[in-house]
Amino acid sequence: MTMKVLIDSEKCCGYGICAEICPSVFKLDAQGFVFVEGDTVSEEEAQAAIEAADACPEVVITFQQA
Ligand code: SF4
Repeated sequence: MTMKVLIDSEKCCGYGICAEICPSVFKLDAQGFVFVEGDTVSEEEAQAAIEAADACPEVVITFQQA
């Protein structure tokens, strides 16, 4: 099942934890704030992406079923 990733970028404080845990999905811009290149997460990436979302102190990352 594919998941769609939602980023509430206004809440991102640039800790970078998400990109450390799941670098294939979560990227950091020049200021260190998160962005995603595509908004879907493959099955292979799902576990790490969920871990990254859980680890985010600002609850920036959520998912929807795609
Ligand atoms: S862990 Fe959360 S606050 Fe930190 S860069 Fe990622 S989305 Fe932003």
